Amino acid sequence: MSNGSGSPTINIAHFSEDEAANENWPEIEFRSPEDEAWYGVDVWELCDSLVVNFNGFPCEYDEVYSPEDFKNSEELKEFEERFRACSVQMQDNECATLEQGTKVCATYPSVAGEVKFYDAIVVNVLREKHSVDEEGSEVCGCDYKLYWNQGPFVNNITSAKVGDICLVQEDNRMNPKVVTFLKEARRKLHGEAHQGEETEWQKILKKVTSAIRSHNLDPSVPENQGLMDN
Ligand SMILES: [Zn+2]
Repeated sequence: MSNGSGSPTINIAHFSEDEAANENWPEIEFRSPEDEAWYGVDVWELCDSLVVNFNGFPCEYDEVYSPEDFKNSEELKEFEERFRACSVQMQDNECATLEQGTKVCATYPSVAGEVKFYDAIVVNVLREKHSVDEEGSEVCGCDYKLYWNQGPFVNNITSAKVGDICLVQEDNRMNPKVVTFLKEARRKLHGEAHQGEETEWQKILKKVTSAIRSHNLDPSVPENQGLMDN
């Protein structure tokens, strides 16, 4: 999660082209297979592997994925979908942009005090007139009813306030390191599957070839000849 206020303004002119390109990639979040919650992460390559480092967590929480970890393209696609541009904390003055059906990433105060974010859909907004705080900023007190797609309240509806909600970003650009890793994993997957298919196909070819040979050597009429004559 990004709180939206901490990201520095980037002055492109101060960066070389490469640096600017790197800086332009959106921060990413990752849905951990451990608990299916979304976390802000950094990624880097370690040989062929992809290391996922959870922002604010020590490195012993890092998850390391090898391109050989995936049995089929469904598993790989599922992994790919665990990454996306970081959702951003909703601001009070963005209240009007949320309506029935808006996809959000939100948290629900847990007994354990854990703040975990899961995907949900806005099903209703009970609007209240916004007030203004002493600094003149708009304050939203509206009550959002969320239907949870994931997490401990999956398939249930709970109430949320503006502070519990992050907005899912439309940015579909994938982090280049993740792209490289996915490519390598795909190459391994298809390379091996292709080899497997070839071997299987070669076996079939052998059978077919030998069948043709024995058929040609066999002077008798094909089995279905009799049926067709009837
Ligand atoms: Zn509001």
